[in-house]
Amino acid sequence: MGQDRPGSYLLFIALDGPVRLRVGALGEQDFPAGTYIYCGSALNGLRARVARHLRPERKAHWHVDHLLAQGQPVGALLVYSEARLECRLAEELSHLEGVRRHVPGFGASDCHCPGHLLLCEEPVQAVGGAIQGVLNGLQDGPLEQRQGQGDEDGTLAFRETAR
Ligand SMILES: [Zn+2]
Repeated sequence: MGQDRPGSYLLFIALDGPVRLRVGALGEQDFPAGTYIYCGSALNGLRARVARHLRPERKAHWHVDHLLAQGQPVGALLVYSEARLECRLAEELSHLEGVRRHVPGFGASDCHCPGHLLLCEEPVQAVGGAIQGVLNGLQDGPLEQRQGQGDEDGTLAFRETAR
C-alpha cells in the first residue's frame, strides 16, 4: 500500500431499489433507487478511509455507513490534497445537470454546509465527463486521482489515472 496521504474522495454507491433508512441524528430518510455520490475527506489517510468504506463489515460511524449498509459501493475517485475539499466538491457537483443533493445535512455534521451526498438522476456514466471536469477544475489541482472499485474482501483495486 505504501504510505497513506491526506485527501478527499468521491464514493459512488448504487442503490437498486428505494429504501428508508435511519441516518443518525437526521432521522428516517427516503432514498430513491439510483447512484449516489458521497463527498468526503480523510486528512489522516485517504486510502485507509476509502478502504474502510469498501469493507462489507463495518460499524455505522458516519452517515454514509447507513447508506452503504443497503447500497453497493461501485467506485471511488480519490484526490490527494492537504485541503479539505468535500464541501466544495459537493457544491460543484450539485450544479451538474442531472445531479442534485439528497438529504439536507447528510455527512455535514461538522461543517454545516448543505450536505455531502448527491443523487445522480441518470446513469452515472452520463455525467462522468462532467465530474472529471469538476475534479480537473479544483483550485490546487488534484495531485493524483485513482478510480476503480473494491474487491469483495474490501481491499483496494484502484487503477491509476495518470495526469
Ligand atoms: Zn460540508
